[in-house]
Amino acid sequence: MIIQTEGLILTEQPIKEKDKLITILTRKEGLIRCFVKGSKNLSSKYCASTQAMTFSRLSLYSGKSSYNINDAEAIELFIGLRNDLEKFSLGQYFCEVAINMIPDSAESDEFLSLILNSLYLLSNDKKPNLQIKAVFELRFLSLAGYMPDLVGCKCCGQYSSDIMYFIPDEGKIICSDCFDGTKKAEMLSPGVLTAMRTAVFADPKKIFAFSLSESSLRDLADISEKYMLRHCDRELRALAFYKSLAI
Ligand SMILES: [Zn+2]
Repeated sequence: MIIQTEGLILTEQPIKEKDKLITILTRKEGLIRCFVKGSKNLSSKYCASTQAMTFSRLSLYSGKSSYNINDAEAIELFIGLRNDLEKFSLGQYFCEVAINMIPDSAESDEFLSLILNSLYLLSNDKKPNLQIKAVFELRFLSLAGYMPDLVGCKCCGQYSSDIMYFIPDEGKIICSDCFDGTKKAEMLSPGVLTAMRTAVFADPKKIFAFSLSESSLRDLADISEKYMLRHCDRELRALAFYKSLAI
């Protein structure tokens, strides 16, 4: 059977000398694995359209446990990621998170749109890298079933105060009047809390629409990464590599 779909190539893995196995996040079929025969030949017309971090229009033969390429055409190559190591490693991190954390039976369209938007903004310098990373993490976790409860203090319900705290282990916030210091918590300025609420609750097209100072952005990125690591128990090599760049 042949299926037509659009998908983002998340990873590619060499098989023997000339073939490769790619993992694709598709719109309707979720995550699938697909063989690309002869992909290492320089003359292969699928070189660009089946490389990692490329969004492609795909025609696939469906086999017993995997797929084979029938035809592939690149829609978006995200060129801006390919000559910038920091952006490239962040893009790889987004793909790595997708492979490790998208549930098998999950509707994949919203995940795919989030990653495509993140890669587009990253590739075209539309927002600071740290902002794209933090929003991606918070929204992704929300879609994956780990939406933090940011509506108000978990004890008294207060919506905002000069200082609130985020408890990564619980995914909840608590105000300074109720916080007794017994739990591990991250201090939130009003600006950082507003940014977190935007990333989690806003319409998909508006989740990146905020501005923060450099230091607040670092606070936001630190908190969102801790929340990601709290829920992802796999080793995230691309994240480790990104952090080794000491940006
Ligand atoms: Zn409170």
